[in-house]
Amino acid sequence: MSALAASGSVRTGREGIMNSENVVRVTKVSSNESRGCEHCDFSIDNESVSASINHYIAAHHYRILHVGTETIGDGNGGPWHTTVAILGCDDPPKVLERKIAFPPGLVDPE
Ligand SMILES: [Zn+2]
Repeated sequence: MSALAASGSVRTGREGIMNSENVVRVTKVSSNESRGCEHCDFSIDNESVSASINHYIAAHHYRILHVGTETIGDGNGGPWHTTVAILGCDDPPKVLERKIAFPPGLVDPE
């Protein structure tokens, strides 16, 4: 028996490839965006991408499909690098409907 087999860890070469099979819903977490979780009242906070990722994994059974960087504009013509995570779920909970209601008198001037 080889040392590798004895350790119970046999490399297949596909460890780094995220399995997106059966995913029916994806969501994005970004260090550039704050928003509410689409399934509950948790705040998806741009200050802590890891806490947001942990929330989707622990509370809603998502799994990480991709983590990387996204380059967007900084508003002054320069690049702005953000961290993004794409999470997928095979059996997502219901998506909350958030209706934004404008109080009377606060109407779009156009
Ligand atoms: Zn949630």
